[in-house]
Amino acid sequence: MTDTAPLMITMEAVNKWFGQFHVLKDINLTVRKGEKIVICGPSGSGKSTLIRCINRLEEHQQGNIVVAGNELTGDLKHIELVRKEVGMCFQHFNLFPHLTVLENCTLAPIWVKKLPKKEAEAIAMQYLNRVKIPEQAHKYPGQLSGGQQQRVAIARSLCMTPQIMLFDEPTSALDPEMVREVLDVMVELANEGMTMICVTHEMGFARQVADRVIFMDRGEIIEENPPQIFFDNPESDRTQLFLDQIL
Ligand code: ADP
Ligand code: MG
Repeated sequence: MTDTAPLMITMEAVNKWFGQFHVLKDINLTVRKGEKIVICGPSGSGKSTLIRCINRLEEHQQGNIVVAGNELTGDLKHIELVRKEVGMCFQHFNLFPHLTVLENCTLAPIWVKKLPKKEAEAIAMQYLNRVKIPEQAHKYPGQLSGGQQQRVAIARSLCMTPQIMLFDEPTSALDPEMVREVLDVMVELANEGMTMICVTHEMGFARQVADRVIFMDRGEIIEENPPQIFFDNPESDRTQLFLDQIL
């Protein structure tokens, strides 16, 4: 990854509180086009809050966040522009249970992008092919395994052709035998050049695809390094302690 690729995300001295609780402390982060960032850290350290600030599911109180050239202020126009460029996948897939897989994938393209139904369906089928479940298109989410549902959720995000994908522990609610199929899709996406931030404790995935791995603890970025340094020779004792606990 070159230092000259365009900036996709910058966070500068970002602070956030939930009431009195200081959840993000002076967060600085720069992500260039095509970079893959993995964020790990203990439960409650602010990982979800950090990535949710990037598409304004949470509002920060101090500092600057610029995503795909748009600064996140209270300006609804900018928030809309940012959300167009950012796809997000959660631990719980959040599919609409009363819609088929195909309808889940075409809903936003039809209503937000105003695509004709036929065109939206053709695009959705392309992405369902990419995540290797085109044959499930007419089923309902409840008829699919967890791994299949998460792949639908990824396909659904991709149907909006985002420039950036955020993943928040996409495999942690899955049965172990289904983790690989979801990670494989994420690796493919990474290899195709998608800009990605992934909160995950799948350290094999981090080693394989991450340009940088970030360790968060108590609202702070404690360490940010390429995987070789991060795993084999971390700068911070707190990183080492965390790795000892999870590896
Ligand atoms: P992580 O994803 O690293 O587990 P989170 O970002 O979800 O951490 O949460 C960080 C801290 O902020 C936790 O202590 C959590 O309880 C608290 N928190 C998260 N969301 C809210 C909220 N909406 N209101 C109040 N506190 C919250
Ligand atoms: Mg979380």
